[in-house]
Amino acid sequence: MRAAVEAADAGLNVAVVSKVHPVRSHSVAAQGGINATLKSTDSWEDHTFDTVKGSDYLGDQDAIEVLCREAPENIMELERMGAIFSRDDQGRIAQRPFGGAGYARTCYLADRTGHGILHVMFEQLQKHSVYIYNEWFVVDIIVRDNVVRGVIALELLTGKLHRLHSRAVVVATGGYGRVFKTTTNALSSTGDGMALALRTGAPLMDMEFVQFHPTTLRRTGILMTEGARGEGGYLINSEGERFMKRYAPEKLELASRDVVSRAEQREIDEGRGVDGCVLLDLRHLGAEKINERLPQIRDLAINFEGVDPVEEPVPIRPGAHYSMGGIMTDVDGKTPVEGLFAAGECACVSVHGANRLGGNSLLETIVFGRRAGRAVVDFCRSSKLPEFPDDALANAAREVADILNREDGEPYYLILDDVREVMQAHCGVFRSREGLEEGLEKVRKLRERYRSVYLTDRGDSFNTELQTVLELGHILELAEVILLGALNREESRGAHYRVDFTERNDKDWLKHTLVYRDEGGYRIDYKDVTITRFEPKERKY
Ligand SMILES: Cc1cc2nc3c(=O)[nH]c(=O)nc-3n(C[C@H](O)[C@H](O)[C@H](O)COP(=O)(O)OP(=O)(O)OC[C@H]3O[C@@H](n4cnc5c(N)ncnc54)[C@H](O)[C@@H]3O)c2cc1C
Repeated sequence: MRAAVEAADAGLNVAVVSKVHPVRSHSVAAQGGINATLKSTDSWEDHTFDTVKGSDYLGDQDAIEVLCREAPENIMELERMGAIFSRDDQGRIAQRPFGGAGYARTCYLADRTGHGILHVMFEQLQKHSVYIYNEWFVVDIIVRDNVVRGVIALELLTGKLHRLHSRAVVVATGGYGRVFKTTTNALSSTGDGMALALRTGAPLMDMEFVQFHPTTLRRTGILMTEGARGEGGYLINSEGERFMKRYAPEKLELASRDVVSRAEQREIDEGRGVDGCVLLDLRHLGAEKINERLPQIRDLAINFEGVDPVEEPVPIRPGAHYSMGGIMTDVDGKTPVEGLFAAGECACVSVHGANRLGGNSLLETIVFGRRAGRAVVDFCRSSKLPEFPDDALANAAREVADILNREDGEPYYLILDDVREVMQAHCGVFRSREGLEEGLEKVRKLRERYRSVYLTDRGDSFNTELQTVLELGHILELAEVILLGALNREESRGAHYRVDFTERNDKDWLKHTLVYRDEGGYRIDYKDVTITRFEPKERKY
């Protein structure tokens, strides 16, 4: 939406295509906040350093500099657009401490930051008269001769396929949390855009780096924001011990997410958990602070776990949360395919490297959304509308019909459950060669089974079964790519932890993984990490 606003503002004819109503995008669930240096005692260089260190030195430092340098002006712009940021005593935009940061620089709208920003962006779309294809599901990005031609989308209300012919396409389809069984992500976070871009020839980068958030609810995987620890919450084990003092003596609960998730998993694995969880204790904050700063967290814990954080500690555990990897882009959202851009969680610029810091992702969507919008304007001014291939719509229709018309086969939900279970078991917080190889074999078998997946609903209108089957195809593809990357990377860095290669190995692995899809299947390649100011050092919290 940020890219669309920018391009529309410059006079381009822009449409947004979204499979869910735009304000139901997963961004709506972002709770904790968005980072920027706003105070004179903080600096964008410090924000850059924290992000580089958080990324375990895999983030590209030139891109991180752009993210951090442009953050303040983007926050001010959001405020002018109407985002109602929470305030401090003096009426300035309030900022809370977040994990892995050396300064309290996370701006927030209570614990509903994404909700607030998403609604402001939607208002801006309307203000700029951007056309919205609401509940249209993109099934294909059309590229010929490495030039993008537009997309093909399924109108969910009618079941009709449409071609959308355009000069440029910006993929902004979010993450792939739903590849895993336990996730904080919305049902819609199935990584569609990444899988579709991969099929056009664009590479995916660093897909093995999956962030597991330390505090997700036991039963549902719903997120308890890092802001809960930012406001002073403790993590305790079954013995009532604040165990983080053994893992990160300085930063304790506010070490970076990969560090905290591994610590929790160790506690659980070594028998100091409670029902497969550890506990998030907020009681000492008191009801008043909880109600003012973390109202939604209290509601979610009561409604989804039956626990009131004012009275009792909340059982939590690590859950898949964020996709560090994605479609490879430069700092203007450009991919190697002409006219194809990407921004937000589906893209890999790379500003998060091996581990993202909380509050940097909403920032990424805004900073690089705006930049991608500007780059699209330049691109469209210097290019003409390429032809839309005649056969593209018919090809897409044939593929969909092929699934719809199968007479028998296997229901999708068995395959969906299985793949998510496999990824959880074989590609989680702790990974090993054996486990990953087994996972890969299982996913390949599931992909075979997917060929004969069969639908019970043959209807046209809101055929959610058909949509889920198409999404399942993307999930399976990405599962294989994630496993390939994880198996290939024989080191531990950030969120990727190999029990058989427990150290970071800069000599062999200070490089990005690229995965391409071509005739022969998947091909792995590498790209250097850009280092500008900060030479890699050991990472301690
Ligand atoms: C619970 C939770 C809390 C978070 N909290 C924070 C936080 O406090 N701070 C922070 O910085 N980050 C946070 N994050 C991360 C951050 O919110 C996300 O990375 C970011 O909002 C992603 O935005 P996006 O625009 O890239 O994608 P999304 O918001 O996921 O939007 C994707 C869009 O793509 C559309 N789409 C997808 N596939 C298709 C298709 N095939 N056809 C048509 N449309 C399609 C969807 O309809 C949707 O509109 C959080 C994430 C989660 C899950």
